[in-house]
Amino acid sequence: MPDRIPYGRQSIDEEDVAAVSDVLRSDFLTTGPAIPAFERAIATASGAPYAVAVNSGTAALHAMYFAAGIGPGDEIITSPLTFAATANAALYLGASVRFSDVDASTGNLDPALVEHQIRDRTKAIVAIDYAGQPADYDALGAIAERHGLVLLADAAHSLGATDRGRPVGALADASAFSFHPVKPITTGEGGAVVTADAELASRARRFRTHGITREPDDMERDDGPWFYEQHDLGFNYRLTDLQAALGTSQLRHLDRFVNRRREIAAAYDSQLADLAGLELPTVRHGADPGWHLYVVMVRDEMKRRRFFERLHELGLGVQVHYIPVYAHPYYRRLGFEPGTCPIAEDRYARSISLPIFPRLSDDELADVIERVRTAATDSL
Ligand SMILES: *Cc1c(COP(=O)(O)O)cnc(C)c1O
Repeated sequence: MPDRIPYGRQSIDEEDVAAVSDVLRSDFLTTGPAIPAFERAIATASGAPYAVAVNSGTAALHAMYFAAGIGPGDEIITSPLTFAATANAALYLGASVRFSDVDASTGNLDPALVEHQIRDRTKAIVAIDYAGQPADYDALGAIAERHGLVLLADAAHSLGATDRGRPVGALADASAFSFHPVKPITTGEGGAVVTADAELASRARRFRTHGITREPDDMERDDGPWFYEQHDLGFNYRLTDLQAALGTSQLRHLDRFVNRRREIAAAYDSQLADLAGLELPTVRHGADPGWHLYVVMVRDEMKRRRFFERLHELGLGVQVHYIPVYAHPYYRRLGFEPGTCPIAEDRYARSISLPIFPRLSDDELADVIERVRTAATDSL
């Protein structure tokens, strides 16, 4: 057992290694047959008809926002309790961001508060499935429909999660996944946009390759068989075939990965419940989270730092998710003020993410629980 147990890490097996080796020996290292195969597998796993694979979760957000028509002068409403990429990708497009506070129990956007943040220029609501728990898309979807907005999901945490049996990927107008090593499956770096909207999917697909199309139906001219046209200002956001083959192989393990995460969460739920100084995660009725993170909250925020340091001394590489996005100096310079979302700030002040990843063994899990209990006794 490694001395230091991180909060998250990848699970790679020999099948994954073989899948990547096969591509290395094939004709295509990028933009070959592994890409559509991976896209079909992602679409199936997420219950969405269309998937566009790209080279990071951030690229997926950027492509999704572009494809949803977000541009200069538009505004998105999103949660501050996320990785900065959720907001950054809107700024890339010249749009602005309005942060709306989260539900105190789940850390997900509170639909009741979102409606107050809608303005004339609001174009989209972007929910984050914090820690792998689906946001309340039924409530958010009703608001989006009333106001003519697009409902988008930053589903970087939640591939494999469901809400009343419906998979993440089928809950919003479009969803963005990340395949960074700590995420539900990995391609090293990678991401995907999924949607049921064929037009949105084809705009995201063009955006991945400089805004260029070769589709005869889309072209304004046809000079010959070599011809292609650039219609939008896109990027090189292509995933390699090496990564796509790894992703397809990883997806075969998704159910097992998610089930193991659920077992670990259940063990924490039952074996940490008596620690009076901690609040354990809450699951919304109907949601079945993928448990990307297991976030405990210290009741007394003054004790969080000591608890965090004690956990590290005991060899647990715990982390804090997340510093509210608007608290970063870059966002402060844009004019965002502390106090914008008090519930998210309170969660930030009290949160710690415990180790949770599929390869954590039963022995390691028992050991982690012991160390967490020791740290709680010592510092809370
Ligand atoms: C990981 C993550 C991203 C960014 O994904 P990358 O693949 O690292 O670009 C975006 N949003 C959230 C909530 C994430 O956790």
